Amino acid sequence: MSFSAPTRRLILASLALLALAPSIQAQGVRSEEHFLAKGTPAQTPYRILRSRAEGPCVLIVGGMHGNEPSGAAAAEQITTWDIKAGTLIIVPRANVLALNANQRRTPGLKGDAGDLNRAFPLQDEVRAGLATDIWSLVTTYEPDWVIDLHEGFDFHRSNSKSVGSSVIHSNHDRARALAKKIIATVDATIDKPGQRFDRIQTQVAGSLARAAFEAKGIPSIIIETTTKLHVLSYRVRQHRLAVFTLLQDLGLGPSPANTLIGPNAPKHSLRVAVFDGSGTGKNSARHMRSIIAADGTCVVRPIGSHDIRAGALDQFQVIVHPGGSGSAQAKALGESGRAAEIQFVRQGGGYLGVCAGAYLAACNYDWSLGLLDAKVIDREHWRRGTGSIPVEWTPLGKKSLSPHSTAAQSLHFEIRYANGPIFLPAQKPHLEDFEPLLIYRGEVTQNGAPSGIMPGTPAIIRSTFGKGRAMAFSPHPEKTEGHHVFLLNSLEWLGGKGN
Ligand SMILES: [Zn+2]
Repeated sequence: MSFSAPTRRLILASLALLALAPSIQAQGVRSEEHFLAKGTPAQTPYRILRSRAEGPCVLIVGGMHGNEPSGAAAAEQITTWDIKAGTLIIVPRANVLALNANQRRTPGLKGDAGDLNRAFPLQDEVRAGLATDIWSLVTTYEPDWVIDLHEGFDFHRSNSKSVGSSVIHSNHDRARALAKKIIATVDATIDKPGQRFDRIQTQVAGSLARAAFEAKGIPSIIIETTTKLHVLSYRVRQHRLAVFTLLQDLGLGPSPANTLIGPNAPKHSLRVAVFDGSGTGKNSARHMRSIIAADGTCVVRPIGSHDIRAGALDQFQVIVHPGGSGSAQAKALGESGRAAEIQFVRQGGGYLGVCAGAYLAACNYDWSLGLLDAKVIDREHWRRGTGSIPVEWTPLGKKSLSPHSTAAQSLHFEIRYANGPIFLPAQKPHLEDFEPLLIYRGEVTQNGAPSGIMPGTPAIIRSTFGKGRAMAFSPHPEKTEGHHVFLLNSLEWLGGKGN
């Protein structure tokens, strides 16, 4: 029997579809949460993602060292990924005590005793504390691969004292090949040759990676980003791309590398991105994330210009721009990043700007986003100073941001101010008029700023923009004790709830 070319193509296509059918059915993972060191101060969750299709089992560990936040953040994001085959076991925050203290070692323990990644002996010597629990994952699940996410303080190629920007693998052919592939993929995203990745084959004694290979024959790979020069979101992006490359090559079929929140994220949480690119103040993005995350109702991620330009805002409901410099944040975003943010809000997203982020939301700088019908006045005196300023709610502001405060609190309270914008209506015909929520009743007049400009102007404003919503805080509720709740309430409105 012979078929014409088109008929043959049709038959082949149908056969291909038939062959695909089981893998389509096999999609969707079972996601389980478990705990290590349960009931102790070091308790930390780990997640198992099981695909219905056969495939390798990969153990991924982040946060072994508390001053290396990228590994922890990337591993946390990967817990929400989909896989089409195999099993992922992920420990995002291995050493929570060290991570919470933002220091390498476990607080209270000296030298190598506090260094979790020196606590894995090669033979059957005694393992202490948390290392015992992590090692039990190796012996219980017998993973095919162990991946450990770390950070160095400097680029290895210019400073041999640090292993920053390197892939450190076991002496194992497949591990070597994978390391080369990871480096080629990540290096393709790095413009500066001095910041590219090196391959290293010596895994330090006492490390999980070395123990897994030498004691159990399990090949292992350590991926090190560099804290120097790069913001957290950028390092997390490198970690994600490295892990994606590896899982893809091993046949697990992971979510795309640009997945900050994947299909296995908690379903009913508000998805909030906090910008941490250039122009955000030192620690201001981290502080903002921790306040929003503490509420427990949001999934919070650091996001940078690279992520935004690559379309990552699609995964979120709200973007937050914290304090720092509005013009520098605008510059970091670039024209295409700014266009992506405007489009995000127009299509239904929420924008929250605080101080620098409030400048960015206005409409009278050539770099501003123009989300709010507000112009910044007295621009030449933007350094008008810092202080605690008396403010007063409007009825709408009190109802939406502080519904449970007393009438007296709503009349006279103070809020932290640091060179925030002074707004007036811009009266642009294509923009909705903003609604004032809080009014300045006092002022600061440092560095030559004239008196009488600030009192009576709105300190918090909001409006709709397309299908989305935008809000700008000139002052800093996140830096004022007792006022964090204003931010959390604003997120609810920005996420589309209430009026
Ligand atoms: Zn480390």
